Amino acid sequence: MIYFIGAGPGAPDLITVRGMELLKRAELVVYAGSLVNPELLNYCAAQCVRLNSASMTLEQVIAALTARPKESTVVRLHTGDPSIYGAIREQMDALDKRGYDYEIVPGVSSLNAAAAALRAEYTLPGVSQTLIVSRMAGKTPVPEKESISSLAAHGASMALFLSVSMLDRLCAELIAGGYAPDTPAAVVYKATWPDEELVRGTLESLPQRAAHIGRTALVLVGGFMGGEYERSRLYDPSFSHMFREADK
Ligand code: SAH
Repeated sequence: MIYFIGAGPGAPDLITVRGMELLKRAELVVYAGSLVNPELLNYCAAQCVRLNSASMTLEQVIAALTARPKESTVVRLHTGDPSIYGAIREQMDALDKRGYDYEIVPGVSSLNAAAAALRAEYTLPGVSQTLIVSRMAGKTPVPEKESISSLAAHGASMALFLSVSMLDRLCAELIAGGYAPDTPAAVVYKATWPDEELVRGTLESLPQRAAHIGRTALVLVGGFMGGEYERSRLYDPSFSHMFREADK
């Protein structure tokens, strides 16, 4: 069986137990070497073959994943959670075509790790109940109707992947789209790695403050990093719900 496994954001103990157990059993691991922490490969047995996919094409990855008997345990290790910018759909379709079965083991996304590093909650009552996950167009185009400025018009919490190298333009487009220039914003570099770095500021100040960070970072934007919010109804003594009676 082939397993697509989310490696988590970096720290080796942030892979799931299921993912770790499969790594221990794997005969072959094809890992996304540009972002996956190589320490995760220490879970593998000595005889396990490890291939870094950073220099491989899709065709070469598929050839590697399918080179072994179908009953072998083969792992495709992706950073964070594979459902976010993981390029797994094209791999799954290629495996379907060749008649190979696979399973996906989810992982902790850098989206979650960045919020933890900032000690933040994306969905604050009275601030925003929506998290927009997007990116600036790069080699991969972004559909016109998802332009940064049109998404910014919602004023929701936003997490931008793959965009820190264009931070100047990103912040300008966010402001042009409707966020106030003093909206809280942050760059989280290599969340959960030993060299993790947090840069906090506003949409106006962030490009200068985080100018030294060129890759492997998330850009987070929104009032959820500010001081104002409403307390939750769920834990409010004056509200009843399925599991608790309100105080009289
Ligand atoms: N599937 C991954 C994202 C892969 S795209 C996930 O769920 O996290 C690669 C981008 O993810 C990077 O350019 C960066 O924006 C972000 N990223 C990955 N690991 C990160 C980390 N540890 N800290 C901050 N951002 C990270």
